Amino acid sequence: MSAAAVRPKARAQARRLGRRAWALLHEDSQRSAQLAAQALDSAGDDPVARGWALLTRGFHELFFATPAEAQPVLEAAEAAFTAAGDAAGRILAGTGLARAAWRAGHYDGALGLALSLRGEGLRVLRGEQRGVLLNAIAGCYSAQGRSDLAFAYMYEALRDAGSASGHGLDAVLHCNLAHELLQIGDCHEALRHVDTGIQRCARLHNPRLASVLWINRVIGLTELDRTHEAVADIHRICALPADASGRGRLATHYETLAIAALRAGETALGTELVARAEAAYRAGIPDEQVELAVARALLARAQGRPAAALAALDSARALAGEPPAQGLSLRVRGLYLLTRADQLEALGDVAGALATMREWQRVHLQRSALASRARYQAAALQTELLRLQQQVDEQDARRRELEALNLQLSRRVAEVQALQEQLRQQATRDELTGLFNRRHLNETLPQMLALAHREGQPLAVAILDLDHFKSVNDRHGHPCGDRLLAAFGRLLAASCRRSDVACRYGGEEFCLLLPRTDAAAARRKLQALLRRWRAERFDLGGVQLQSLSFSAGVADSLACPGHEAALLKAADDQLLAAKRQGRNRVLAAGGAPDIPAAA
Ligand code: GH3
Ligand code: MG
Ligand code: MG
Repeated sequence: MSAAAVRPKARAQARRLGRRAWALLHEDSQRSAQLAAQALDSAGDDPVARGWALLTRGFHELFFATPAEAQPVLEAAEAAFTAAGDAAGRILAGTGLARAAWRAGHYDGALGLALSLRGEGLRVLRGEQRGVLLNAIAGCYSAQGRSDLAFAYMYEALRDAGSASGHGLDAVLHCNLAHELLQIGDCHEALRHVDTGIQRCARLHNPRLASVLWINRVIGLTELDRTHEAVADIHRICALPADASGRGRLATHYETLAIAALRAGETALGTELVARAEAAYRAGIPDEQVELAVARALLARAQGRPAAALAALDSARALAGEPPAQGLSLRVRGLYLLTRADQLEALGDVAGALATMREWQRVHLQRSALASRARYQAAALQTELLRLQQQVDEQDARRRELEALNLQLSRRVAEVQALQEQLRQQATRDELTGLFNRRHLNETLPQMLALAHREGQPLAVAILDLDHFKSVNDRHGHPCGDRLLAAFGRLLAASCRRSDVACRYGGEEFCLLLPRTDAAAARRKLQALLRRWRAERFDLGGVQLQSLSFSAGVADSLACPGHEAALLKAADDQLLAAKRQGRNRVLAAGGAPDIPAAA
């Protein structure tokens, strides 16, 4: 069986699996990866199932592997969603690609990509999905050192992915928010978010996320000079396996942990962590490089080698001096300058220490400025999002209004149609019997006759007249006569085919048009009708009426070619003859003499 031939049931199952995998991305990272693999196995070429499975796998690679591994997977997800016409999925895949770019160090490209998705994303995405986009934009700003904007977007993302949604993105956001608050120096608030994130993490199966939260706590405690409280977290992080069942292959942050351990006086632990950091060292990430230099300096100092400590710091001077390397965070730069000032002072270089402290002060002021801008940006973004939301609400309201109007209109149309139908019925129907009236007969007969001529088929016309009807009226009253006329109408209607036309010709006279029927067949049919009419019994206010009869004359269009008037006259002549011959009979033009019907 080809991949394209996945059955609808299997396809629905694969789609469910893919969506479930995505929903579990933060909640249960390993299970999410398993489901994505299963979905991909059973997806065939269904673009929807493939899209969600690939999207999940791509994000998983971002968390646990490398951006280079994530990128082709996310590109495939984007292509699948484009093929499926799924805008939300396509935007999320683009979001993943932006993250991959920023993780690969392409900060400007990443931000450009993420921002290009923003307008459509805000319209199309809802709740947690919107949070994913906003979080990615925040990440790109964060990587550029623009904490104020990063902070604003994260704060907004947290609103979209509040704890109620329960899929764990909120824990991620508390973690990222903590990271951003650490950049702008709001460490108490950062620790508050770390604790909330850790609480949310307790019901997730996401050890990697927990490890990043612990790292942020370590950073916060280091900034607040409470490093002795961080030692337990350092041990916890180190105990996690470096694969998808633990903290993954990325973001070991050993240098960060080493700094905390060494400042806490844990020299042995610090030594081990510096060694680990050196082993895991990746070039090109300024924060990591500068922190490693600081960790080495602290270790050298703890080992009583102050000159080596300063040398270690000097090795990172090009990155952390003025101007700082792109991507270096203010936090790490501040940490570097403080450590360096300390070291210079310890070495007796008071002037150097003072100059470095001045540098640190400038960084500190920048961080404060960022903090206040961050508050302003959050408010501005909130306003913009509210405005967008208002637009969406207004569109919804307009759509609802339009729908209501449409409904009203279609009701009116239906009313008018019903009214027209009623009028049409009144114009063509006889009220007493419900049969067509003479006017309708006059309109229909020429058409039916023309059709019969064209088809070369006979059209039979019968004219019926109730016998001695005047005496019914005279003996039992007009209302009784009316009831009999209505009963005869019902009988006539019931005996007709759909193609027959039964009319009240006037008074107690009726006319029947029978297409594709010759006079002989019509006569047999009317004789049967006569037998049924004679068999009817009526109870009219205590008086029993039965054995009522009618007379009828029949003619057909083949035997009487010409105009409809000729046909009607031929039938009428036969009716008169029937009356003359004693009533209670049906005569046909050109037919055999008739025997009266018996009850
Ligand atoms: P024949 O067998 O010769 O047809 O006798 P007849 O009494 O039926 O014929 P005639 O033409 O003398 O009388 C027709 C009667 O039908 C007269 C009229 O009172 C009655 N009639 C016509 N239209 C109506 C109606 O709408 N309701 C009632 N109750 N009677 C009607
Ligand atoms: Mg009559
Ligand atoms: Mg009559």
